[in-house]
Amino acid sequence: MWLTVLGSAASYPGPGQACAGYLVEGGHARVLLDCGNGVLSNLAVVVDPLSLDAVFITHGHPDHFVDIYALQALLRYAPEGPADSLPLYLPGGLFERMSCLLSERGAAEFSAAFIARDLSEGEPVAVGGLTITPRRVEHSHETYAFVVTDGEATLCYSSDTSLTPSIVEAARGCDLLLAESTLPEQYAGMAEHLTATEAGVLARDAGAGALVLTHVWPTDGRDQMLAAVAEVFDGPVSVAREYDTYEIVPGSGAERGNAK
Ligand SMILES: [Zn+2]
Ligand SMILES: [Zn+2]
Repeated sequence: MWLTVLGSAASYPGPGQACAGYLVEGGHARVLLDCGNGVLSNLAVVVDPLSLDAVFITHGHPDHFVDIYALQALLRYAPEGPADSLPLYLPGGLFERMSCLLSERGAAEFSAAFIARDLSEGEPVAVGGLTITPRRVEHSHETYAFVVTDGEATLCYSSDTSLTPSIVEAARGCDLLLAESTLPEQYAGMAEHLTATEAGVLARDAGAGALVLTHVWPTDGRDQMLAAVAEVFDGPVSVAREYDTYEIVPGSGAERGNAK
């Protein structure tokens, strides 16, 4: 199973960065986790967006979904005519909120572009040979972490979350933990996000094989983040960058490579 980082930035995209977006490939399936600002452009660098099998959105903050409108335009205006409707899994009510921005005709086209399905805590979704299980975490609105497996390796993507037992349980025993680390250390506990140190504690307490820090403020010092994590977690750690690809291997942590 492969993870490719399409967007590593938190809240707003930095220079050459995008907000939340991750491509997961395995089990003859290709899924997109989150679709924030700039993600569609970076996705198109790596694969044909029309080859996606499904899109999963963790929660209703704009940095996790606004490129869904761009993806809809691509599906609608594909060269060979409108593409098949794409399965889109998201928190209950979010699809309707997304549609509110659109005209009546635009909302109808938006509905035609996707097969929208509500996520439910702990209810796995099968896409080809991948299984994606949403797990509720503590953040604004209804927010889900995703646990993804191809039957061999396991990825846990934290989404945005506080450090609580629910995310530790979701990440338990994963081979790769892709954890947000939005907050500078001095803001620990002041918002429903993790610091780099807390992401390291999460990886340690969950027994994760490897840790990738992501959803980083464009102004944060990445070297300091790695140093902070090294204080609390012994496994392999890196900070996500656009187009980085990780092969997720059972039991041995993740091997980092460049985009395939
Ligand atoms: Zn976010
Ligand atoms: Zn958020």
